[in-house]
Amino acid sequence: MLTREVKIGNVVIGGTNPVMIQSMCAVKTYDVEKVVQQANLLYDAGAGLVRIAVDNPKDAAALPEIRRLTQTDARQVNLSVDLQENYRMAELAAPWVDKLRYNPGHLYHFEPSRPWQEKVQYIADVAQKNDCALRIGVNSGSVDPAKKDKFAPDDMLSPMLDSALEHVQYLDSIGFTRYCVSLKESDPYLTLEANRKFAAARPDVPLHLGVTEAGAPPIGIIKSRLALEKLLAEGIGATLRISLTVPANEKNLEVEAGKQLLEDVKAGRFTPENAWDPNGLNIISCPSCARVQNSRFVDLAEKIRTATAFAAQRKFTIAVMGCRVNGPGESDHADLGVWCGPECVNLKKKGQLVGRFSYDEIVDVIVNELRVASCELREKL
Ligand code: SF4
Repeated sequence: MLTREVKIGNVVIGGTNPVMIQSMCAVKTYDVEKVVQQANLLYDAGAGLVRIAVDNPKDAAALPEIRRLTQTDARQVNLSVDLQENYRMAELAAPWVDKLRYNPGHLYHFEPSRPWQEKVQYIADVAQKNDCALRIGVNSGSVDPAKKDKFAPDDMLSPMLDSALEHVQYLDSIGFTRYCVSLKESDPYLTLEANRKFAAARPDVPLHLGVTEAGAPPIGIIKSRLALEKLLAEGIGATLRISLTVPANEKNLEVEAGKQLLEDVKAGRFTPENAWDPNGLNIISCPSCARVQNSRFVDLAEKIRTATAFAAQRKFTIAVMGCRVNGPGESDHADLGVWCGPECVNLKKKGQLVGRFSYDEIVDVIVNELRVASCELREKL
């Protein structure tokens, strides 16, 4: 069954349309010059949609100028805005963009006593009025707490699926069908399963595919491909993003990796299953975005990756996150999780806060924790 078609700016996704590649700006949204430079970089690389985070009125105030400078004779960049904790930013952002993305798991933060249905109705009304499409963006690390409570603590898949299906059903019930859905996990195999299950339940809804916090290349590309190649070969997926932890001025690598993936799937070239060891050291790191709180984040993620290479064969997960929006939640399931603040880095061990460390200290602290964990593991064996 073909999915519905959804128009986003000057492109249409779903149906028989080609799979669209998208990416996201990783510079402060209020910095118009940098956003425009990055949006153009992504557009020139082949992105059909460029996402920008908008968290506050200052970010939103930059959008008219960003819009003006990205809709020129040379380039017509389709823009999407990421609403996270403050869904009310929708009305400030929508007049200047083509799509709004909301995360059902973040709706409770603002006006907690207001039912989520009213919030979604408001977002859909704003989208309708401003000719915008929507994305329901579900992430396992920031899934709706009400959904988490319904399932076993180690069941990462059911809360995501339940949340996505509930929102789809609600949007349909209020007559808004110009939307797509994403279900992202940092584990490629869970991402694969979640998307397969959603597509089986709602084959009419276009899916945006991606593995969240896949990390730096090459492993970030490999993890993404292990999920996305199979989905695309099964005819699942209308758009995709390869999320990579790379410096802001190299974000075009996400688009290049996406193009290569599409070419390879078409030619029947697939990544061997043993290209990534799910039982080895797993470094999860976010791709960074406008919310990143210290520009040293990408460099830190790379330093952690290099310094922990000695434990490559250990089954151990380290999550490295760029901010407080998704960082604390996304790092909860890791053996060690760090999320970066403006001045210091917060360290969690199996979800419990260990302390705050300077950017200069944290790599050694992680290496020590990993050595201790490796010794404990050896003693148990
Ligand atoms: S963890 Fe924060 S900085 Fe990283 S991608 Fe998510 S919102 Fe952006």
